[in-house]
Amino acid sequence: MPQVGLIGDPVAHSISPAMHNAAFQALGLNDWRYTLLPTPLPELPQRVASLRDQFWGANVTIPHKRHVIEYLDNVVLAARSIEAVNTIIREDDRLVGHNTDSAGFVIDLENHGVQIHGRNALVLGAGGAAHAAVLGLANRGATVTVMTRREPKGWDLRQRVKRGVSHKFKINVAPYAKLADIAPTVDLIVNTTPLGMHPNIDASIWPVEIDLPDNAVVYDMVYRPAETRLMKQAKEAGLTVIGGLGMLVNQGALAFELWTEKQAPLDIMWEAAQRALEIDKA
Ligand code: NAP
Repeated sequence: MPQVGLIGDPVAHSISPAMHNAAFQALGLNDWRYTLLPTPLPELPQRVASLRDQFWGANVTIPHKRHVIEYLDNVVLAARSIEAVNTIIREDDRLVGHNTDSAGFVIDLENHGVQIHGRNALVLGAGGAAHAAVLGLANRGATVTVMTRREPKGWDLRQRVKRGVSHKFKINVAPYAKLADIAPTVDLIVNTTPLGMHPNIDASIWPVEIDLPDNAVVYDMVYRPAETRLMKQAKEAGLTVIGGLGMLVNQGALAFELWTEKQAPLDIMWEAAQRALEIDKA
């Protein structure tokens, strides 16, 4: 039976099994299964070794996206540059690491009609999701400012992303103290911090005393809840808002296509993801 799974710790609340199992069923891949593989760090080497004979591939999530690299045989450039693997495929006896977060984010922005080339983007946060966002934005020709509470982390991000960008590179790093000065100059704001995520739904990375820029697009990677406090602030300011569920579904669809070599049924995956979030909330 072709099996794929999710390696992480914790993984219990993931909506990926619902999304992928619905997609397998929709395409008649009745013997495929997506399972949760809860994996504390000391068990990571054995877990990855088990992929070699029991699994066709896997997703990887917090906190293993970086650690997993040393156990793989090859890692594609985009994932290697930002040192984050979220998808593994088995090619014969070799395990190959990919990153579909970056492309999933870019595809979702473009699906919403946002042209990335020439944008002045502000990315809030400098963790794993920020790396994926900045790589995608920089490769599509945006100018990016990374805002972080720890500047060295922002500079590290810049160094990593640089290895994966194939043309002129425009990434700045700034502390939150500069937010009021930088805000009026940007037209795309991407929240990659967990602020506003369930259960702390009243939190927002954007202080009420600073105006959001006119005509900006605000993208919040948080998808639980579907509408975050930041998204409400942006809506009230008349801005275009996008939540993180589309990125989640698109990164999943790209992983699905790597494993099955079939076109992912995006609508089915969307519906299954939304249903799973509703059930989790109940
Ligand atoms: P991470 O690696 O832990 O990074 C989190 C970042 O947020 C860090 O830069 C951290 O700063 C910053 N941060 C945390 N609390 C903060 C605060 N109070 N004020 C300012 N900055 C703060 O986590 P991640 O993997 O990037 O994930 C971040 C969020 O994105 C999560 O909510 C996750 O669910 C979401 N996400 C969504 C998708 C999707 O498909 N939609 C994909 C990936 C991630 P420090 O480094 O200073 O601590």
